Amino acid sequence: MQNDSFNPQKQWEQTSTGYYIVPIDKLDVKGAPKDNDGKPDLKAPGKTIVRCKCPDCSDTRKHQDEHCVRLDTMTGLGKCYNCGFKFVISSKVADYNKKRGYQKKKFKLPDTSKLRPIDGIGINYLLDRKIQPQTAAKAGVRSATRTFDGIERSCLAFTYREGNKVVNIQYKTTSKDFAVETDCELIPWNIDAAIGHDTLIVTEGMMDALALMECGFDNVISVSNGAESDVRTFDRFRYSHLDGIRTFYLAGDMDEPGVELRQKLALYFGEARCRIVEWRVGDDAAKDANEMLIEHGVDAVLQCINHAQLCPIVGVETIDDYRERTKYIWEHGIAPGKTVGWGEFDDHVQFEPGRTVIIVGEPNTGKSTFADDLVLNLALQHGWKAALYSPEMFPPERHIERLATTIAGRKFRKELVQTERGVDYRKPLIPERMADRILDWLCSNVFFITETSGRTIHKLLHRAEQLQHRYGIQQLLLDPFNYIQLPEGAKSDTMKIGDVLAEIELFAHRTGLLIFVVVHPSKPQKGEQIDSLYNASGSAEFRNRADYGLVLVNDDKQRTRKDYHLLKIIVDKVRDDAMGHKGTCHVSFDPQNYRHGMVQTIHLLGEVNQYNILDISPHCWLDQTKEPTLF
Ligand SMILES: [Zn+2]
Repeated sequence: MQNDSFNPQKQWEQTSTGYYIVPIDKLDVKGAPKDNDGKPDLKAPGKTIVRCKCPDCSDTRKHQDEHCVRLDTMTGLGKCYNCGFKFVISSKVADYNKKRGYQKKKFKLPDTSKLRPIDGIGINYLLDRKIQPQTAAKAGVRSATRTFDGIERSCLAFTYREGNKVVNIQYKTTSKDFAVETDCELIPWNIDAAIGHDTLIVTEGMMDALALMECGFDNVISVSNGAESDVRTFDRFRYSHLDGIRTFYLAGDMDEPGVELRQKLALYFGEARCRIVEWRVGDDAAKDANEMLIEHGVDAVLQCINHAQLCPIVGVETIDDYRERTKYIWEHGIAPGKTVGWGEFDDHVQFEPGRTVIIVGEPNTGKSTFADDLVLNLALQHGWKAALYSPEMFPPERHIERLATTIAGRKFRKELVQTERGVDYRKPLIPERMADRILDWLCSNVFFITETSGRTIHKLLHRAEQLQHRYGIQQLLLDPFNYIQLPEGAKSDTMKIGDVLAEIELFAHRTGLLIFVVVHPSKPQKGEQIDSLYNASGSAEFRNRADYGLVLVNDDKQRTRKDYHLLKIIVDKVRDDAMGHKGTCHVSFDPQNYRHGMVQTIHLLGEVNQYNILDISPHCWLDQTKEPTLF
């Protein structure tokens, strides 16, 4: 079997990867005087990439003095831009063999004996794409005949060269069928074009690479196999070809797979070394380099390369990303948080988007009802639609009836009454029209997240995000936390809880949702009072991760009227002091309609307080809207 390898004029040894080995005293480097042994001082030119004469062709050239080789003095790899001779300096061979990546397995070399110079069909195909056949030929493109779907077809053969060997071939018909040799190694196409350059253009295909060569660039390679290419095909060339590249021009396609490839490449090479080429000049746009050349010409392609923007670094932001929002604060101050109208509670806590609220409380203090009322008030007063994940509030229609009762201000029922004549009948406590209005309002403002198809935090948050996209929700209630399935794995539950809370917190930041998490307390020791978020069951992370921490304690022994309950709220944490402060306050609770209300604390002598529980309005909240109602 033959391989269409380069034929040097002289006798040289070769590395296993096909680079000829050139003794250093055979080099004639520009600006590098030779010592007594005839060795050039490679440090003398003062740069990594130097020019030298070609050890193979210069002697026989007309322009004998031309320094036609670019040589990387770090890796010792050189390439002649006259004859294509590729070599490594003898003194660098050991380094090269040690540092270059090894092939994972043995690959075959392709049979190149059937390749022929580019012929008629190929020439027309290339010319149609504004590519001169000699440009393609110089880059190792040939013609071949190959069977596609049982039919013999004439096609272009793009040889993948490494050193002076062909390691693979991609065959491409004029109708864009293509195939590569399956037993051969896939490497980036034209990878040796990186030798002796500190900038490199990377395209998504060979035709685009040829288009750029047509525009005068010789430092152009293509990824191995289109948008699906595996970046690991670059591994073997990192040391020898890529470490010296200061700037990669990512010049792939503009479609979605192209953008994905670009992101993969940027991560692989490091964003700081990458520039992004957009195939657009003014209103002239194209999907790739070749189309840009065909439709808008060489100058347009050059402009795209020259205007390539620095690649953004993933996970890093600059102050400028926040300049406008920061200037807004300078101009207007911090937007005040939202309150719910519960007197002392409002003084302690104001809510803002993107935060996490942890609510913990003794059993039967009404944590869920408190959280529901909070969420409903924010929805009604501030238009913050909400998603509720409340699996303990079962069945859902009972939960909805409770929410409707809160909105109505009285039981969402018909009441059984008896007439004087002893006839029972059901009298609605609210008229049916109002009942329907309340349900309509709930329908467009409150959404339930169910356990169907899983209750891991990812799945729950995914549903919340979908509700945000479709309905614009701004609040999420997770009640209770222990219904969230912890991740699998060997970590302790405490660490898993920490991980889940981190997910919730980051999700809140990313989406701007205000997230309430209701947590059961750990079993209190005898005589121990629940008074901080450290009482939350499972992990101190609840307190660490909370933006707001609320502890609910029943304080009925202090109440001044029997029709309402008295709740003490320990505000254990408010992360941002623009949104409230730590301390203790009270709210009342009306068990008839599940509403909470204002309490005035009256400070008496001797640190004794008296709690003045005010009336909670029993009016339907929807009354206050302009639409006339029966009330
Ligand atoms: Zn040469």
